[in-house]
Amino acid sequence: MSKVLRHALLAVTLGLSTSALSTPLVESVDADRERLVGIFKHIHAHPEVGFAEVNTAAMVAKELRAQGFEVHEGIGRTGVAAVMRNGDGPTVMFRADMDALPVKEETDLPYAATEPTKDLFGNEIYAMHACGHDAHTTWLIGMAKQLAERKDQWQGTVVLVAQPAEELIMGATAMVKNGLFDVVPKPDVLVAGHTHAVLPAGKVAISDGRRMAGTDQIDVTIKGRGGHGSTPHAAIDPVVMSAMAIMGYQTIVSRELDQSQPAVLTVGAINAGSGNNIIPDEASLKLNLRWYRQAERDMMIDGIKRVTDNIARMYGVPEDRMPTYEMKGYSTPVINPEQETEHARQAMMAALGTDNVLQGFPPVMGSEDFHMLTFPYPEVPVVFIEVGAGSEQGWENFVEHGQLPKYLNHNPKFVVEPDSIPSGTVALTSVVLSFLGTK
Ligand SMILES: [Zn+2]
Ligand SMILES: [Zn+2]
Repeated sequence: MSKVLRHALLAVTLGLSTSALSTPLVESVDADRERLVGIFKHIHAHPEVGFAEVNTAAMVAKELRAQGFEVHEGIGRTGVAAVMRNGDGPTVMFRADMDALPVKEETDLPYAATEPTKDLFGNEIYAMHACGHDAHTTWLIGMAKQLAERKDQWQGTVVLVAQPAEELIMGATAMVKNGLFDVVPKPDVLVAGHTHAVLPAGKVAISDGRRMAGTDQIDVTIKGRGGHGSTPHAAIDPVVMSAMAIMGYQTIVSRELDQSQPAVLTVGAINAGSGNNIIPDEASLKLNLRWYRQAERDMMIDGIKRVTDNIARMYGVPEDRMPTYEMKGYSTPVINPEQETEHARQAMMAALGTDNVLQGFPPVMGSEDFHMLTFPYPEVPVVFIEVGAGSEQGWENFVEHGQLPKYLNHNPKFVVEPDSIPSGTVALTSVVLSFLGTK
């Protein structure tokens, strides 16, 4: 049976109108494959970290402009937003994140990143696309071409967003605060996809309900009084207070929260002091919270302040030297709504075949910030899709032996299968098209 016929039959079986047929989409993305994989490899070889995605953003802007989009650059420092208006109909926003991680690549790919890059502050660092955002950016570029070429098939407005600094959980909020909605319309639905290291290229997964946790990044500074290492009685030691605080935090989740609700409190960094015989003046802790309900978030933040403030008091820190708390990156949980999730699932089944659209993996304590793009409009539904980017072998090992691949996201040997470039483009474009009006 020809591919066209097979997809036509599938669409009929699913009760979709023939105008929603996606075979041409599969075929035209296939025809664009070489160009897209080339773009993907270029982005991979030239990674840029959060808020420093200068060249990546410029490339996205150029590609989208070439497809006839109205392009706005420099939103939230390096963010790009592109609009295509095509008559009356729904407004659909799609987000791709552009940032790499400060990780030195250890793959032996011919397109591995080998040269150092510059971070936001101009420091030379090694970076790597170890989370697949190079694929995400390429999907967006591939989608732009399909949408432009299919203007006779859809109606409404498409907003494509290339977002900076997802890994910092700051980029989406930065774009909104920097005037995103002065230049693009409010969407009726927001869609994003993320590479999945276990699912093989060609497959996608989607589920309704909880998908990714809410998160906060908090910097705590504990102030003491510095002095000579030999005279601790003349000092107030912030190192000891930090150690007590870290141990105190351990019982906030385990003894204070409802154990049926997931929550995580991690101290990811502790910095204090410079020498063996110097008691430093202060210490800083970098904390990370994960939660699904506001109640757990509030209790963890309250608990952190209560524990830290009272340890300071216990050690005689004066009230004007109490610990300080800097709230940095923040995002709410990602919850896929039932109706829009089912709608997206149907669209992807028609595009990729029913066997290639799976139930999503269980919710995780990992986080995203794409949905913060619509934080001024909490009523806007957001749909998050897991896009297979792993190998067939890895998938077989997982299905047959429950084994996870050795190198997951953020590992210096993490690899995105190039086959996920066309399949991700097809899946996500089919979802965006399905939310638009048809002609
Ligand atoms: Zn990541
Ligand atoms: Zn990521």
